[in-house]
Amino acid sequence: MSPHFRKLALIGIGLIGSSIALAARRQGLVEVISIATRRQETLDEARELGLGDIYTLDAAEAVRGADLVILCAPVGAYGALAAAIAPALEPGAILSDVGSVKEHVVKVVGPHVPAGVHFIPGHPIAGTEHSGPAAGFAELFAGRWCVLTPGPDVPQAATDRLVGFWQAMGSMVECMDAAHHDMVLAITSHIPHLVAYNIVGTVADLEADTKSEVIKFSASGFRDFTRIAASDPVMWRDVFLTNRDAVLEMLGRFLEDLSVLQRAVRTGDGPALENLFTRTRAIRRSIINAGQETEAPDFGRPHDAPPAPDMPFIREHGGGDDA
Ligand code: NAP
Repeated sequence: MSPHFRKLALIGIGLIGSSIALAARRQGLVEVISIATRRQETLDEARELGLGDIYTLDAAEAVRGADLVILCAPVGAYGALAAAIAPALEPGAILSDVGSVKEHVVKVVGPHVPAGVHFIPGHPIAGTEHSGPAAGFAELFAGRWCVLTPGPDVPQAATDRLVGFWQAMGSMVECMDAAHHDMVLAITSHIPHLVAYNIVGTVADLEADTKSEVIKFSASGFRDFTRIAASDPVMWRDVFLTNRDAVLEMLGRFLEDLSVLQRAVRTGDGPALENLFTRTRAIRRSIINAGQETEAPDFGRPHDAPPAPDMPFIREHGGGDDA
């Protein structure tokens, strides 16, 4: 099944949309790229960067005649966007997205999808803490997973075609159920972001002299948290508003485990602390072994990305943070 598309429409052209535009073009996967976004300034920036061929503020106009449409806006905007583009979607087209949550997307986009259009939600587990059209780079997806959550009515040929598209951009692809995706991402991505927002938020609320000390001596663990906590506020607001149940479930477990740790610190239970820290070190080792991180110290990002087959250029950029 050819991963080649005649016209790709990207609705939203920030970090992820622009990276798709660059990767799809570089790999020769599309003939025409049509870009729609909300604000004129963003559209002008995308045009200056030469990300597409057609630029419009009208999402419906962008999708007309497209055989692949990918929503790349914050998930909170999806319902209104789906309603706006539905009448203009071509029969036989694939409609996908890149949102960091999936059940909510199925719920708000699904009802608008016309018969004959194949709706295959997706999530590239690749990203950085940067936003906007200039933040994208063609190597973002190389060696990273992309999860697709096709419903039962989607023809296998359509799914295969979209799998091929992501693979051609360097991704490894896995299909799964939307609810399962949301539970896995709650613990691997959403809770870590919540913890980072909380730690950095605690510092933001400290009195001024203590705060300046923290910033001065931030080379310890705090600095890594600030990178995650610098992620886009609107995108992350929408993640927590739309993946509430899975986040609360995982947060409950996290808080239970934190209490156990608190007790170990209070009672001076060295063996318990050492035991946990040994197990956590093994988890990091297994992530490196799986090619999802490098051993290089992370302070000087971007660093070398993990290698992916047939993508020699990926070494130019780091894989960044996975949202
Ligand atoms: P971003 O850099 O902030 O870009 C968002 C884009 O969406 C901008 O072009 C913005 O346009 C547009 N937009 C916002 N509201 C819109 C609306 N109502 N209608 C049309 N366009 C709208 O965001 P991003 O990081 O690319 O994230 C986009 C999606 O990818 C999100 O759903 C996020 O969950 C998902 N994702 C992000 C990451 C990550 O690490 N960042 C990783 C994987 C998946 P204007 O500037 O014109 O408002």
